[in-house]
Amino acid sequence: MKGICILGATGSIGVSTLDVVGRHPDLYKVVALTANGNIDGLFQQCMQHRPEYAVVVDEAKAADFCEKIAASPIADMSVLSGPRALEQVATLANVDTVMAAIVGAAGLLPTLAAAKAGKTVLLANKEALVMSGQIFMQAVSASGATLLPIDSEHNAIFQCMPANYVAGHRAKQARRILLTASGGPFRKTPLEALPDVTPEQAVAHPKWDMGRKISVDSATMMNKGLELIEACLLFDMEPDDIQVVIHPQSIIHSMVDYVDGSVLAQMGNPDMRTPIAHAMAWPERFDSGVAPLNIFEVAHMDFEQPDLQRFPCLKLAYEAIKAGGIMPTVLNAANEIAVDAFLSEKVRFTDIALIIEQSMARFAPESADTLDLVLAADRKARDVAEQVIQALSA
Ligand code: NDP
Repeated sequence: MKGICILGATGSIGVSTLDVVGRHPDLYKVVALTANGNIDGLFQQCMQHRPEYAVVVDEAKAADFCEKIAASPIADMSVLSGPRALEQVATLANVDTVMAAIVGAAGLLPTLAAAKAGKTVLLANKEALVMSGQIFMQAVSASGATLLPIDSEHNAIFQCMPANYVAGHRAKQARRILLTASGGPFRKTPLEALPDVTPEQAVAHPKWDMGRKISVDSATMMNKGLELIEACLLFDMEPDDIQVVIHPQSIIHSMVDYVDGSVLAQMGNPDMRTPIAHAMAWPERFDSGVAPLNIFEVAHMDFEQPDLQRFPCLKLAYEAIKAGGIMPTVLNAANEIAVDAFLSEKVRFTDIALIIEQSMARFAPESADTLDLVLAADRKARDVAEQVIQALSA
């Protein structure tokens, strides 16, 4: 029986993880669940899964949550609040596995704490890895933590790697990764219509049901850009060894091209419970609740080169990883600010790439060798991106 802590339990990945956990009560016990401010969602999850700890990061909402818990049948559960509580629950002695499913930079410190504590880290929070790069990978190898990718593409690549593959190492006979992308909702939208797309149109992903931030990232293809950087780190590959492939059906979740000409692909219905169950059961397999793939319904599959004029964010991600140093951190921070501004209707869809590009232009690829340097670059890039937004709307 393994103890699991789910960081970001109330989000899309968190809910899917609890669905998988609920299918295997003999193998997993929920030790801790965390949310930012969705106390109603968290309360229901706590009633169902009975964790020992719940964290509400937003301290104002934590007081209301405590009242609800005190008046409930689970009044003996410990409730913590504030961002440091995330690190506390991610490193508890009876937590074996940490699902890192907070969105954005807010997930970095608890995910890193879990890695340093030698936990099995199921990594969905790609922003944490993109920001901290080698610091995160070194923490994993120094502590002996097990790192298993949850992003469907990286989980697919991991599954196509040789037996006993360990994340962070280059598989010698793997010459290329083919990183698939759905192309999002605007793959065929006329370029001149893109400035006017609304947040509601941008979050309506054709294949995947996800949180709002990653849905916008998918629409701009910054999601693929972040995944490109994630893949370089997880599989020790150069950016030019990774080919992004638009595959609108989202049935193949990525491929590995070997020196003998074999190309291994992992396929399945687009449902995050498959990679989640893979990582939770690894190195075994167990039921995820996902329906079997009906290959006759799929019937055919398409593959296209990404158009960098339509998707400038992908080009910016290639530039950031090639420049190195703090540039991936800057890219990620500027993107988080730009997406937030778009979702609050302060800027247009096409401004997202502009804001990131103009923010990146104000930085040089300085060292990102320590956590302090990374956090300072993250803060500065957020300020710069806010300034760019102000200048755009002036
Ligand atoms: P959601 O927006 O659905 O959920 C985010 C979770 O993080 C919620 O539990 C939210 O709490 C919590 N959270 C938000 N802000 C903070 C904060 N400041 N401090 C602590 N917790 C916070 O996101 P997703 O589940 O879609 O994505 C989570 C991560 O997984 C992202 O990094 C994403 O890129 C990655 N991912 C997601 C996939 C998907 O299919 N959804 C696929 C592959 C990767 P609350 O509900 O209280 O706001």
